[in-house]
Amino acid sequence: MLFLGVLFAFDSVATVSWAGESSAAHNLQIELVPTQMKLIGQDEITVKTDNRKMLAFRISENLTQIEVVVGNEPRSFDIDSGRLLLDLEAHEQNAELQIQINYHGIFDDPVPVQPVNTDNPGYGVTGTISPKGTFLLAGAGWYPELINSRATYRIEIVAPAGTVAVTAGGSRGHSTEDGQTTSTWQVDYPVRGLALSAARYVVQEKKVGTVTAATYLLPQNQHLAASYLQATAGYLGLYSDLFGAYPFEKFAVVENFFPTGYGFPSYTLMGGTVLRLPFIIHTSLGHEIAHCWWGNGVYVDYAAGNWSEGLTTYVADYLFKEMKSKKAALDARRQWLRNFATLVRPENDFALSRFRSRYDPVTKTIGYDKSAMVFHMIRQLIGEEAFWGSLRDLYRDRLFRQTSWIDLQRAFENRGQRSLQNFFEQWIFRKGAPQFSLKAVSTTQNSEGWQISGKITQDPPYFGFALRLALETGQQTIKETINVSGPETTFILNSVAAPLRLTADPADDIFRRLYSSEIPPAVNALKSASSVVTVLADQLDPALEKAARTLALSLGLKRNQFIPEAELDRKTLAENDVLLIGRPRNADFTKIIPGAIDIRKKSFVLENAVYDSSSDAFFGVFDHPYAGDRIAALFMPLSSKYADIVAAKITHYGKYSYLTFRSGKNQAKGFWPVETSPLVYHWDQRNED
Ligand SMILES: [Zn+2]
Repeated sequence: MLFLGVLFAFDSVATVSWAGESSAAHNLQIELVPTQMKLIGQDEITVKTDNRKMLAFRISENLTQIEVVVGNEPRSFDIDSGRLLLDLEAHEQNAELQIQINYHGIFDDPVPVQPVNTDNPGYGVTGTISPKGTFLLAGAGWYPELINSRATYRIEIVAPAGTVAVTAGGSRGHSTEDGQTTSTWQVDYPVRGLALSAARYVVQEKKVGTVTAATYLLPQNQHLAASYLQATAGYLGLYSDLFGAYPFEKFAVVENFFPTGYGFPSYTLMGGTVLRLPFIIHTSLGHEIAHCWWGNGVYVDYAAGNWSEGLTTYVADYLFKEMKSKKAALDARRQWLRNFATLVRPENDFALSRFRSRYDPVTKTIGYDKSAMVFHMIRQLIGEEAFWGSLRDLYRDRLFRQTSWIDLQRAFENRGQRSLQNFFEQWIFRKGAPQFSLKAVSTTQNSEGWQISGKITQDPPYFGFALRLALETGQQTIKETINVSGPETTFILNSVAAPLRLTADPADDIFRRLYSSEIPPAVNALKSASSVVTVLADQLDPALEKAARTLALSLGLKRNQFIPEAELDRKTLAENDVLLIGRPRNADFTKIIPGAIDIRKKSFVLENAVYDSSSDAFFGVFDHPYAGDRIAALFMPLSSKYADIVAAKITHYGKYSYLTFRSGKNQAKGFWPVETSPLVYHWDQRNED
C-alpha cells in the first residue's frame, strides 16, 4: 500500500498539441552510452513544409555538438530556450525537405531511491540514462521534435549488449552483434511525441489476433510475464468488442527501474514494485489499456478540457466493479460522492471543462471521479445501447484526432436522439453539484390505498435532472422517475399497500453534494482540516512522539500544533480538529469514541476482534465533541513497536473511518455506519393502523 499515491497517478501523458499543418517523418538513430549518461543521435527528417518562414524543433538544453544539414549543405541555426530554429528560404516553403540533425546529449535527472507519496507520476524525472536503465519522456527533448507537426518515426537504438529499448509503435526486432544490441521500432501513426525506455529486459510475446501483447521485464520479474500477457489479452478483447479494433500493433507492459506509473500509446511503464502488487493486474493495467482507445487513440483537445480520465475511469476501474457486483458498483459511485463532498470546497471547485491533468486530490476528484459520474449519468439518460454505440461512433470517427467535450456531446446526442445541451452546460461547463433533500412527505389513505406526496427541494445554484424515487411497501418497491428543477419539485405517488420507506436516488445515480450527515468521518477529513491540534496523551511513551510527528507530516497537516493532554483547554479543543496520540484520559475524548470500538489500557476490541499484541495499532476518525463541522482522530499503537511505520501508512487510507494494524500491516479498515440521510423518509410503524 506504500505505493498507493503512485498508483492513483497513472495517467495518459499529454505533451504538445499540433495544428497538423506540416508533417515530419523521422529516421532516428540513437546510440546509448549508459556509463556516461549520454546518447549520440542522428535524425534524418523528411519535412513537408507549409508557408512558415522558420522551422522550430523542441530539443533539450543539454544537447551539444549539434550539426544541421539541409539537403547536402551544412546549415546555420539558432538555439532559443529549448528550441532549435531554422530559417527557410522562399523555395524551401511548401516543399519537401531533407534535414539531418546530429547531436550529443547528457540526460542525468536524479532518480528517487526511495518512493514517496506523490501526485507526479514520474517524480519530476523527465530524462535519465544510466547503467540501471534509461527513461526518456516525450518532453525531454532527446530528439528534435518539430513543433506543430504530425510525425512518424523509424527508430533504431544501439546499446550495450543485452540492453533492449522499447517505445511506441511496432517492434522490428532486437538483435545482438559485436557487443551491442540494436532495437528497431516503427511508428506509422501520427504521434504527439515519443518516449523511450531501455534496460536489460527479457522480452515475452503473445499473439492476440493481429495484435502483439508483450512484456519487457527485468530478469528477476520474469515470473510475472505469463499472467500479465494473459490479462492484457483479456483487456484487448474486452475493449475491441466494446469500442472497435485496437489501434496499435502491440501493447507492452514495460518495467521501469524506479516506481512510476505511466500510460503511453501502446505501452505502460510501471516500476517493478508496482508490477508485483497483486491488484495492479485487475485495476491499473486495464485502465492503461483503455487509454489506448481514449486519450492515446482518440486524442484529447486539452485546450477544451480533458475528458479522457473520466471516461477511462468509467470504462475501466468502474466497469470492473460493475462486472464484479451491483454492490461494488454502488460503493464506487458512493465513494466518488464522498470524495467530492470531503475534498472539494466551493473555493477550490472548478468546471470539468477546465480539467487538464491531475496534480492533487482536488484535480483528481473533479477530473476523474466527477467526470466518471457524468458518464454514468449520460448512460442512465440515453440508455445502454445508445451509450456504448456513441463511444463506438466516436472512436471510429475521431481516432488520432483532437477531440473535445463538444465532440462527445454530439456523439451522445446522435445516438441518444435528444439534445444534451442543458446537460453539458450544467455538468461540464459549470462547476458545483446540486444539494437536494426530500421534504414535506405526507400520506393520505383513500379507498384505493395510499397517496404519498412530497417535494424535492434544493439550494441555489439549481440543477435540473431526472431523479428516481423508490417507495417500499411490505409487498413491493414502486419506482418512479421525476424531473427535478428549481428550488422545489413536488411529486405524488400511489400505493395499494401501506408505505414503509421512501428513498430519493436510491442507487446514487446523480452527482450531488452529500450532506455532512451522510459522510462518516474519514482520514481525508483530517488531511483537508484547516487547523489541527495534535494532543499527546498523558504518560505517553516518548518513542510515540516521534510517530506522532511522522503521522502529522505524512498527513500533510496544515496549521498543526502539538500539545500535551494536560495543557489542552476547552477553547483550543473547540476551535480545531483534534488528533489524539495514545489512550486519552480526558472524558471529553472518551465520550466521542463510538460503541463499535472498545478501548482499554493494553488492548482494544473492534467488530468482535480482540487486539492485544504489543504490535497492534488503532487509528480512527470520529465526530468532534464540540464542533459540528470538525473531526477528532485517535492514533493508538499499543506500544512503540512499528508505530512509526504505521504512522507513515495511514495517509494512504484516506477514505476510511478506521484502520487497525498488526506488525505494521493493515488488518481491518472500514466506515462507521451513517445513520441519517435527507433523501430517505421512514414511516413510523407505530403510527400505522
Ligand atoms: Zn488515466
